[in-house]
Amino acid sequence: MRFLLLSALVILAAACSGVDNNGAEPAGPSETSPVEAAGAEPVALPISLYIVVSESDPQLSSSRSVAEVEAIGARVTEIWAEAGVVIEIGFVGQIDVPPEVIQTLATPDGRAFLQAAGDRRFAVPEPGAIVGFYTRNAGGVNGFAPFGQRAFFVTDEPSVFDERVSSHEIGHILGLHHELGDSGRLMFSGTNGMELTSEEATVARYAAEGIMAGAR
Ligand SMILES: [Zn+2]
Repeated sequence: MRFLLLSALVILAAACSGVDNNGAEPAGPSETSPVEAAGAEPVALPISLYIVVSESDPQLSSSRSVAEVEAIGARVTEIWAEAGVVIEIGFVGQIDVPPEVIQTLATPDGRAFLQAAGDRRFAVPEPGAIVGFYTRNAGGVNGFAPFGQRAFFVTDEPSVFDERVSSHEIGHILGLHHELGDSGRLMFSGTNGMELTSEEATVARYAAEGIMAGAR
């Protein structure tokens, strides 16, 4: 009885916690991690990361190094591990892309770029379930994930942390929409927020499971 009363109070406190909650997060004991709260197994998700360069027109090349992108991948893995999505970084390296294909990224769209990859106009070695492209320019935004694709793009000089941009775009690929109220959240646009709610973690894990089921 005492336990039930305590639980009810905890739920009431969570429901009344105001602006930070925004009603988006299911009420529950706050000391439980998102993964435990949902009672779900972690899901592995292989991701490959490509540095887009042009050997024929180096001015179009990303200036990122392999070590830099590997470090971004390691931090992305940490951010998503808290939501029970175990990102496994596979291939990390440069790919040589035709200049006219790189130039299609003058707008944050990506479909022409991905179509060119599908048409084998350039090689995308060892693709993971999700692929990330690090490009000199991403159409004037920090990053984007074309709707319905398992790919994201990140510019060389985003206005927020690199790992934040990559993790946020992976969130979109895993079915998450923008958070509008709390700038501390990963899915708030244009900040360094990194937090994922238990509800977002559940949605993302289901999406990752779906991607992996389709990949088998
Ligand atoms: Zn976004």
